[in-house]
Amino acid sequence: MAFYLLKMGADESERLANAILDLSRDVGYCSVCFNLTEQDPCSICSNPKRDSSIICVVEEPKDVLAVERSGVYSGLYHVLGGVLSPLDGVTEHKLNVHELFERTKQGVSEVILATNPTMEGEMTAAFLAKRLERQGVKVSRIARGIPFGGSLEFNDAVTVAKALEGRVNIEE
Ligand code: ZN
Repeated sequence: MAFYLLKMGADESERLANAILDLSRDVGYCSVCFNLTEQDPCSICSNPKRDSSIICVVEEPKDVLAVERSGVYSGLYHVLGGVLSPLDGVTEHKLNVHELFERTKQGVSEVILATNPTMEGEMTAAFLAKRLERQGVKVSRIARGIPFGGSLEFNDAVTVAKALEGRVNIEE
């Protein structure tokens, strides 16, 4: 990186430095859904046309973009900020899990678990499903279309749309 920066002219490196400054100054996390945003709440949370009774739970802000690209989803989101991974020390307290349970206490009819189909993603979905069902919330999991071990962001819009349409109820 140092070599690359030295090769850049002074103008170019100043532009880059300003772009990084702008980014860290203007972009933050939505206080409701934890998506990246320049306004709080974000444009999705504050859009009255979105269906606030459905929450789609994803791992990272980039997964919100992947689901938005599918064009078939009009509910809200909740970004966990990662997945449960006990071996790496990632417990529920390091993710935005508590905030999700607070949101689902208030008139949410369905939660779609759209964590990635990896070991950790499945484990996180199972953990959330159990806790949400105890709250009496209908829980579904995206299923068809996304290959195991795959990642939402690398799938095309049609595949993500199919996975959402083919979501299944999670039985305990
Ligand atoms: Zn938001």
